[in-house]
Amino acid sequence: MNLPDLLQINLKNKKVIVRVDLNVPMKDGEALDTSRITSLIPTIDYLCEQGARIILISHFGRPEGKINPEMSLKQLLPSLEKCWGRDVSFGDDCIGPQAQKIIQNLKSGDVILLENLRFHPEEEKNDSQFAQALATLGDLYVNDGFSVSHRAHASVDAITQYLPSYPGLLMTKEIKALSQALNAPQKPLAAIVAGSKISTKLDLLKNLLEKVDLLILSGGIANTFLKSRNIAIGTSLYEPAMLETAKEIEKIAHDKQVEIILPIDATGSHETQNFVTMPLSNLPDSFKILDIGPETVSLFKTKLSQARTVVWNGPLGVFEVPPFDQGTTAIAQTVAELTHDGKLFSIAGGGETLAALTNAKCSKKFSYLSTAGGAFLEWLEGKKLPGIMALIKNKPQTC
Ligand code: ADP
Ligand code: MG
Repeated sequence: MNLPDLLQINLKNKKVIVRVDLNVPMKDGEALDTSRITSLIPTIDYLCEQGARIILISHFGRPEGKINPEMSLKQLLPSLEKCWGRDVSFGDDCIGPQAQKIIQNLKSGDVILLENLRFHPEEEKNDSQFAQALATLGDLYVNDGFSVSHRAHASVDAITQYLPSYPGLLMTKEIKALSQALNAPQKPLAAIVAGSKISTKLDLLKNLLEKVDLLILSGGIANTFLKSRNIAIGTSLYEPAMLETAKEIEKIAHDKQVEIILPIDATGSHETQNFVTMPLSNLPDSFKILDIGPETVSLFKTKLSQARTVVWNGPLGVFEVPPFDQGTTAIAQTVAELTHDGKLFSIAGGGETLAALTNAKCSKKFSYLSTAGGAFLEWLEGKKLPGIMALIKNKPQTC
């Protein structure tokens, strides 16, 4: 892939706009998992050492184009300063005269974080004027958010029209690692897809069937498949609009001889009981599935022991609320052991997935952890990611 090389550029005193992904899961005002923050250390260190003036831009949550103080990036400053061991200043808006003014005052090696891009509806619309307003803040643009590069948003795509644009150190590392692992993976290749972002993930399963031999599903995605098979799921999370898509995927999987593995039992809440295990054959109407049960853990373990490569996105249950982390933890430990024994090459990614693996104390035992969830699944599908394509199109210019 012919990408421009940031390391060849003189960055002294340059105002460098860096698109990062600071959309980290939070709990009680603290970052629940800091993987996305620590993975940016090499980039931040490099830019500081080179004497750049660093302007960080990111989204956080889904404010849907409106200012929402609960989704202010300001709350991340203590975590960033602690992880990076540097002072980080803050700008209350990501565009406009106030942002311009504080950026003018930045000195070589200073780092500033600007407010949530998604407070502006134009960001998700890939709006040119908004991209231009962002671009006027800097001398060059660096995309270090592999995990957001599947979205053609203004700060990822349109901005590259207005500034010399480069992949960051993390982006380069992710592309290299995923290419090595996924261009010719050892077969059988198993994908574990779970979590709560049902529509986006379910949609990409179709293309994923071209690549994988085995599809292990859980969370809201599995529930949608179970529902489409007329299996009762009580009051559990599922996506009614995707029932037909789930049926189509089952048909394609059957034709391609890809095995879809669904949970066979669940733990969850039932009436006044908070933690109940039941088989999925006959779930009562008031049962809410919150994790896979022990039978499913055994089934998934058996299936994983037959694989040579596994890609994993999405926690298998509501891991934030113990004991509903048990299923995810048991499977994470299995994958970690198989990896350690040299039987499996394992890649996992996604905001909550990384948090769940940290919770399971397994995050160091996988072959590779990607900061990306959706983006890495799309990469695996073989899709061209708009954020990366935009960098290839933009040949480096001297600045
Ligand atoms: P990622 O960020 O790793 O890509 P998602 O954002 O799709 O993953 O989903 C993560 C969320 O899915 C977690 O917060 C977890 O609580 C939730 N989840 C997993 N299983 C269930 C379930 N059965 N019911 C409701 N939520 C679930
Ligand atoms: Mg998530």
